Amino acid sequence: MRSAHRLPSRLPLVLASVVALTACVRQGDPGGVAGKHPDVDGEAVLATVAELASPAYAGRAAGSEGGAAAREWLSGRLALAGLDVRQMPFPERVARNVAEARLELDGLPGGTRVFAWREDYREVVRGGFDGGEARGTLVAWEDLAGAAPPAGCVLLLPGTAYRPDGMGAYADAGVAGVLVELPAGTVEVRPLWPGHPGGTLVEVRRDLVVLALSSPAYAELLGLARAGGGTAPIVDMASPVRFQDVSCVNLIAEWNGDGGDFEPRFAFMAHYDHVGTDQDGNFFPGALDNASGAALVLELARAFAADGRKADVAFILTDGEEVGLSGAAHIALAPPFPLYDLTVVNLDMIGSSGGTPVSVYSNGDRPGLALADELVAVLEAAGLEAVSEYPVPNVDHAPLVGRGAIAATICEYDTAAYHTKRDAPSGLSAAELDAVGDALYAFALGKLAGGG
Ligand SMILES: [Zn+2]
Repeated sequence: MRSAHRLPSRLPLVLASVVALTACVRQGDPGGVAGKHPDVDGEAVLATVAELASPAYAGRAAGSEGGAAAREWLSGRLALAGLDVRQMPFPERVARNVAEARLELDGLPGGTRVFAWREDYREVVRGGFDGGEARGTLVAWEDLAGAAPPAGCVLLLPGTAYRPDGMGAYADAGVAGVLVELPAGTVEVRPLWPGHPGGTLVEVRRDLVVLALSSPAYAELLGLARAGGGTAPIVDMASPVRFQDVSCVNLIAEWNGDGGDFEPRFAFMAHYDHVGTDQDGNFFPGALDNASGAALVLELARAFAADGRKADVAFILTDGEEVGLSGAAHIALAPPFPLYDLTVVNLDMIGSSGGTPVSVYSNGDRPGLALADELVAVLEAAGLEAVSEYPVPNVDHAPLVGRGAIAATICEYDTAAYHTKRDAPSGLSAAELDAVGDALYAFALGKLAGGG
């Protein structure tokens, strides 16, 4: 799944950065420090990633103690660097794994078949269905031939027939539970995307219990549903998900370099939350997603402050990205400063050593697309393989565009690590973080100086 590392050695990276910096200095240098090259230290970024991905923050789930601890740590570092830090709280309703997970099949000739959590099956949160227990006859959707499923059954649904917004119809038909097949590799993934509109709270439903199956587990259950010779097996299932009301907090760090009113024309943004723990309390480190982006934003803020740049720049660290972009949606609802014409570069998963190409996402609006094209050029000059993709609305830049911001997201979507316990600091490259950090710092300085 992973391709070969696209960075042949550290040397070309360094050269590419110097070229990018030289180009920027020619464009102008706001409050420039003569002779000092803009610099973000990749090793420092990686050290912050290691901090945020450590057990102390327990996966940084929105509204959790670990999330609050991560926020306090970041807030302290930003203040120490000389920035003004504001905390902007907002309400959220999040899915937590707090109860038992169970999937068993009774009534088989050989006794009970017990399936394994996070190997054969996992939770589902999209649609806002609260967890709980269900017991019913196993019925294969593929054998219904379009007929309505019988009330009280547990429906076995192939991935091809799964429509997240169609699940309510099964609940209304009296189905007790749904076992939905998800493609290979996703069962160990921790999902946190209820799919409700940003800035609203999910409307929790308690009339259907849903679990996701691996494709092999789906195939086994389909075979067992058909092998009974008249008596279908009984499914005994439990989902650990419960929705809870929590308080989330965005961090707004201001570098007021020109001393007057704070009127930023440029912002770096990243979400600091991640997906928390499983129901056994084992945490998801979230190094790439998105300790990497938060750490890079912190180092960029430090660079602006350390170099005493005479410009206003905002550094936005959002909460609740993983539960539906709710932090970014809250910023769009209650902007801390005018968003109109504000250039926002959002960082969400950056610096993977796995050779994942860099995507630059935008909504496809003309200013966003132009920004994405500029960022692609900047990243390629820094030695990375980058491509513009649009429209991609399920990242934090998207809600801000509705308020007139010029916004795009830089993302390395490494599917091998995404929302798994493998997303550790060892999967990140200090050299790449260094190159990207330097290139983005130079890019911001160019923008602030009025250059392209
Ligand atoms: Zn994520």
